[in-house]
Amino acid sequence: MAANVLIDLEVLYYLSRNEPPYHRYLHTYVGGIAMGVVAGLLMFGVVQMVRRVLPASSSWGERLAKTPRRRLLWQSLVAGLIGGVSHILLDSLMHEEMNPFWPLAEGNTLVGLISVPALHIALAAIGFFGLIFWLLLRES
Ligand SMILES: [Zn+2]
Repeated sequence: MAANVLIDLEVLYYLSRNEPPYHRYLHTYVGGIAMGVVAGLLMFGVVQMVRRVLPASSSWGERLAKTPRRRLLWQSLVAGLIGGVSHILLDSLMHEEMNPFWPLAEGNTLVGLISVPALHIALAAIGFFGLIFWLLLRES
């Protein structure tokens, strides 16, 4: 989530200045990976702060205390990279102005591969089934 917010700050910035194109360098795989790493490191820092604040007697505090820091860092970085790369992939299906493979290639050949309504329905369905799957995993 943090990677997605960081990447879309670019759009917010250029929209606020009314300077198209709105999807520039952060909306490339290079930018998405970089913002994914930044988001992973930021969230690792947040987890470390939460780790200090949470009482060890709480279930989350106990789980965090048992998890090695190196593993938390690895998980944070992987989560950030998944967020950053998936953001570029999904946005490149919708925004013609993007150059997702910059600096290797200009243009966006993925736009229009799937209609925007179909993409939104597919993402909502994936989110719904992901929620169900997560709830089932929590029960076990
Ligand atoms: Zn975006």
